[in-house]
Amino acid sequence: MKAASLAVHAGRKLEARSPLAPELSPAAVHVFTDLDDYEAVVRGERHGHYYGRNSNSNREFLERAVAELEGAEAGVAMASGMAALHASILALAPRPTTIVATRELYGGTAALLRMDLEPAGYEIAFVDLTDLNAFGHAVNTAGLVIAETITNPLCGVPDIEAIASMGQQRGVPLLVDNTFATPLLCRPLELGAAVVMHSATKYLGGHSDLVAGVVVGDAKLTGTVRARSARVGTPLGPFDAWLALRGLRTLDVRMRRHSENSLALARALLSVDGVVRVHHPLLDTSPSFPVARRLLGRGAGGMMAFDLDGGRDAVQRMIERFQLVRFAASLGGVETTVSYPEITSHRSMTAEERASLGVGPGTVRVSVGIEDPDDIVADFTQALSRSC
Ligand code: PLP
Repeated sequence: MKAASLAVHAGRKLEARSPLAPELSPAAVHVFTDLDDYEAVVRGERHGHYYGRNSNSNREFLERAVAELEGAEAGVAMASGMAALHASILALAPRPTTIVATRELYGGTAALLRMDLEPAGYEIAFVDLTDLNAFGHAVNTAGLVIAETITNPLCGVPDIEAIASMGQQRGVPLLVDNTFATPLLCRPLELGAAVVMHSATKYLGGHSDLVAGVVVGDAKLTGTVRARSARVGTPLGPFDAWLALRGLRTLDVRMRRHSENSLALARALLSVDGVVRVHHPLLDTSPSFPVARRLLGRGAGGMMAFDLDGGRDAVQRMIERFQLVRFAASLGGVETTVSYPEITSHRSMTAEERASLGVGPGTVRVSVGIEDPDDIVADFTQALSRSC
């Protein structure tokens, strides 16, 4: 099946009289009448569920669906994207080592590396992964590389294929946060990544109504992640898994529309007074354009950013004037939202660190929704108009 069909059908095998939509199974525990049967299920020799921290049917459907979409052997769904990221890191680098992470990255990931892993003995090197020369030096001492398919917040696109191959030559695994691109636009495992994780809170769920994370990779590695998730107690609850799978069913149509709308808005903002820079991977002015065209052939999704002349005051004025767009700290929903990295995703960085990435007081990140593009462009244009 092609990706659009997989998004609709993956994760479940329907038989005669199966419910077409999955039933919600909130049961924390299943009953057994045979001790051998119970042991066979616990050992994984027989399919079934016995306790909700270990497995659940709704979680299983979601895990299989995301794994199929990413072309992975297996997946594990967890309580948040951060739980998924943490578990992926510990599975790939169980002992302290040097982690080379993309310099421009989600602030929560940077905080996890600095505040939890560094004190535990890991060395963290933040490197511009769009600069393959810099990466070539850094990878020599690395035990793990962490990249984002599309970086947060300025939407650069590192050459995941080249990074994976340079890492493989030195036996260094690549972990990719594929939250912004989703498997509908990019499948990093096919480009050589060892593990892919998602904040399913964003595009996979797609409706801003759940918090979830998913890790996909080979059976051995995801087995390690699953066992630890059960031990430390970070699995995704049944209702959130049910919601995430329901959202996933429309991923293809949503990602097409997000991609079209973000490019339309990016192009329109280029000629709006007061907008000094527009960041979108598929604008030919973007330094990432050649790589983005190659790796994101189906579109770049809904994320983009721009820099506004006038800093925080100008951003505040724009937010007050919006009629349709809303300020919100997340992304990937059907509605267009803006966030302000200085106080949202990148608040754990210092002003100097943000400035070194090119994130300033006028930087606005946009999660472009699936509304009519004319309405989105019109709302930004009127909110940024200097005449009101
Ligand atoms: N990765 C990226 C790129 C994100 O934007 C986020 C959250 O904003 C996360 C990971 C963390 O996901 P969650 O909030 O589901 O824990």
